[in-house]
Amino acid sequence: MKGFAMLKIGETGWIEKEKPQLGPNDALVQPLALSPCTSDVHTVWEGAIGDRHNMILGHEGCGVVAEVGSNVKDFKVGDRVMVAAITPDWNSVEAQEGFPMHSSGMLAGWKFSNFKDGVFGEYFHVNDADGNLAILPDSISPAEACMISDMVPTGFHGVELADVRFGDTVLVIGIGPVGLMAVRGAALRGASRILAVGTRPNSVEVAKKYGATDIISYKDGAIDAQVLELTNQKGVDRVIIAGGTVDTFAEAVRCLKPGGIIGNVNYLGGGEFIQIPRVEWGVGMGHKTIVGGLMPGGRARLEKLSSLVSSGKVDVSLMITHRFEGFEKVEDALYLMKEKPRDLIKPVVVL
Ligand code: NDP
Ligand code: ZN
Repeated sequence: MKGFAMLKIGETGWIEKEKPQLGPNDALVQPLALSPCTSDVHTVWEGAIGDRHNMILGHEGCGVVAEVGSNVKDFKVGDRVMVAAITPDWNSVEAQEGFPMHSSGMLAGWKFSNFKDGVFGEYFHVNDADGNLAILPDSISPAEACMISDMVPTGFHGVELADVRFGDTVLVIGIGPVGLMAVRGAALRGASRILAVGTRPNSVEVAKKYGATDIISYKDGAIDAQVLELTNQKGVDRVIIAGGTVDTFAEAVRCLKPGGIIGNVNYLGGGEFIQIPRVEWGVGMGHKTIVGGLMPGGRARLEKLSSLVSSGKVDVSLMITHRFEGFEKVEDALYLMKEKPRDLIKPVVVL
């Protein structure tokens, strides 16, 4: 089969591989739609997960089941399915402890285009199919289903990590597709005010549609100073970080109220340490919590989040700014993601 791969750090290309072998719990899926992610860009051009050779890229997609292992109970050949970017081993000790994304090692629930070939192939392999696939409802298009692989669950996980409550004032730092889903998730959780940080015009427009009440540009000075000014020096109850750098944490701590929580889903690609400002952290006693997490993945989450899309509560189509047709277009879509033109939120390739 053909696949679009990382050949080595900084280099991509088309390769031929054997179709993946199935274990008894696994499924083989033929893609219907695919989407590149900022994480694919980090993987190839920043060497974020170390060097990989001839590894098929991609972890966002949906498809049709082409084969199933002998133990798979709930899915059969021909089913249209969604799959999350994170595909844990559901019988692992870590999953039993409530951290499926770290099943078999820290961050090891992330398998596609990390420990095995990703979804940018003519077929892709899904481990633990009964736990990691979900039926794609007719009400959701394949392009929309790609957003449910990673953008919806990751943005919403930021909201879960920050534990947004009714009436909270929430700061969302970064309004790429992940941050936009954090804005939408915070609005659904009942935030009364959502301050969103970003500059790309399409993202700003969509953030407002999703429920952002105030837009802040990080290019206009420190985020904390702008937030404090907008909130009468009170600060915010919750922060979700979906963009920025290691230095963003200091800004978040400075404008967080005592008792507040910061939920980070941003990938930190550089810098040795995260600095916490001593005084604004209550000289060690401010009850300001910082949590960071990879999204959990799994079938139950896919089913629940997709029901929010089906019911119209989350309109993921607003994030799809660029559409391509044909499998070979994943290459163009990934390079578009790398270049990140100002009008891009998310590209999708429909096969
Ligand atoms: P984007 O690059 O599309 O968006 C990043 C956002 O951050 C933009 O709004 C950008 O603003 C803003 N930003 C850039 N620099 C700063 C800064 N200095 N201060 C504040 N905001 C800034 O990324 P994605 O939405 O695709 O992904 C966000 C992150 O989430 C990535 O790091 C990605 O790797 C990670 N991720 C994590 C996952 C998880 O499971 N935890 C899963 C998937 C992705 P502007 O509008 O100006 O561009
Ligand atoms: Zn992704």
